[in-house]
Amino acid sequence: MKCPTCQTTLLIADKKGVEIDYCPDCRGIWLDRGELEKILERSADHYSNRSNYESDVKKYHYSDNDHYKSHPHKKKKSFLDDIFDF
Ligand SMILES: [Zn+2]
Repeated sequence: MKCPTCQTTLLIADKKGVEIDYCPDCRGIWLDRGELEKILERSADHYSNRSNYESDVKKYHYSDNDHYKSHPHKKKKSFLDDIFDF
């Protein structure tokens, strides 16, 4: 499958059991029908567990700037950022 934007051949990433086609050139992400629903479902499952939610809030939303500076590769802010982090 080619990127509709720049015609580069898309690469496939497996994120938590969901296949995501993405373009290494323009960073576009192309989901087959149903894939986005699966991701959102998993996200909802994840956050329906209150302790997950609270630990993510602590991990991602606590404004500890020094922590982010010392861990530049751990800037993920949400479950979806995690999914779309290539
Ligand atoms: Zn592209």
